[in-house]
Amino acid sequence: MPLRISDPDVAAHRNDVLAQVDPDVAFILRKEVTRQEQNLELIASENITSRAVREAAGSVMTDKYAEGYPGRRYYGGCEHYDEIENLARERVKALYGAAWANVQPHAGAQANMAVYFTFLQPGDRMMAMDLNHGGHLTHGSPVNFTGKFYDIVAYGVDRDSELLDYDSIQKLADDAKPKLIVCGFTAYSRNIDFERFRQIADSVGAILMADMAHPAGLIAAEEFNNPVPHAHVVTSTTHKTLRGPRGGMILSNDEEIGKKVNKTVFPGVQGGPLMHLIAGKAVCFHEAAQPAFKKYQKQVRINAEALAVALTGEGFRIVSGGTDSQLMLIDLRPFQITGKEAQLVLDSVGITTNRNTIPFDPEKPFVTSGLRLGTPAVTTRGMKEPEMREIASLITDTMRNCEDESGLAAIQEQVRALTQRFPIHEI
Ligand SMILES: *Cc1c(COP(=O)(O)O)cnc(C)c1O
Repeated sequence: MPLRISDPDVAAHRNDVLAQVDPDVAFILRKEVTRQEQNLELIASENITSRAVREAAGSVMTDKYAEGYPGRRYYGGCEHYDEIENLARERVKALYGAAWANVQPHAGAQANMAVYFTFLQPGDRMMAMDLNHGGHLTHGSPVNFTGKFYDIVAYGVDRDSELLDYDSIQKLADDAKPKLIVCGFTAYSRNIDFERFRQIADSVGAILMADMAHPAGLIAAEEFNNPVPHAHVVTSTTHKTLRGPRGGMILSNDEEIGKKVNKTVFPGVQGGPLMHLIAGKAVCFHEAAQPAFKKYQKQVRINAEALAVALTGEGFRIVSGGTDSQLMLIDLRPFQITGKEAQLVLDSVGITTNRNTIPFDPEKPFVTSGLRLGTPAVTTRGMKEPEMREIASLITDTMRNCEDESGLAAIQEQVRALTQRFPIHEI
């Protein structure tokens, strides 16, 4: 007997809302909304998406296979998927001034993998920033595929200035002759001279890959140097400062490089693209092209600077003395507390951060002497300089009251009072 859609067993719950179908999951989601509302989110790689981004990312576009690229799919019925992917590609190309874009990478790590697989063979040499100085896992960590597949030569920051030293990077490249150089970092707060990196790469015949995962939103708003005119290929996430759905992307001005990278993304390392997230990316790129987004990114930077200045005033040491971006690294040693302890005690009062090594860190990577802070999420909530000063004093009070339970409870009340003034979802 043919199945009819009105068959009560088969069609059961098809249109019921989550709370009816699955109260367990709905309850967990409610609790997450409350956590977001009540806590101060200072993780530099996180943000709060718009309702429009979440609507597209949670849409019917999750249902379909669309292996291949627009106009060349391996499945029927892809006409709207072609439309959405073309729209996302055109928007992101305009946003960054790129000639070519691939919006299919599932995340930043997959974008990087696709570029490495395009240009490197196992055993080839690549040069990237030392993880303890701000590089990402996918830039050569021994526990990552990059550390296992490639011969990694790491550069670091200068011991005194804690800034990139381009002359010493040039010297290292001259000696090491890498096939590929990575620039763009996870925990380096200063601007990057992408033009200089390209000169270094050209002088040794290397491919330059810029990984703009962190500052992508600042770059879209011209608040940070744009690597697209300089690097051979640019990788990114879409969910950090760019404030889109969780995902990755790759850009280039060289369409020949683009053709090769397309093949590596699919069928090289991925199967069907996550089209619902590509729909979310399209919305994100539209939002990022609006004047309000420029204002937002400017405020992200102003807030980071205000927070760094206020923390310095409270006695913390900021690595490299400040920030040009949304993030900063603080050296906790003046407070005689490790990054691990600081993260835990801050969590207990509702301030969410992550521990991080600082350059030449005397502690183990799991413990660390540093804490990484960022302003994208609190700025999305509408906080400005006065709130950054308030946050700096809340962090300092927490460090001073680590052992005092009633002191910490009072700080948590202050965090609640502050976050209540800047609602996220319930406005
Ligand atoms: C976050 C980040 C990535 C990886 O992104 P995922 O989406 O977590 O895979 C890659 N590179 C840099 C520099 C990053 O900061």
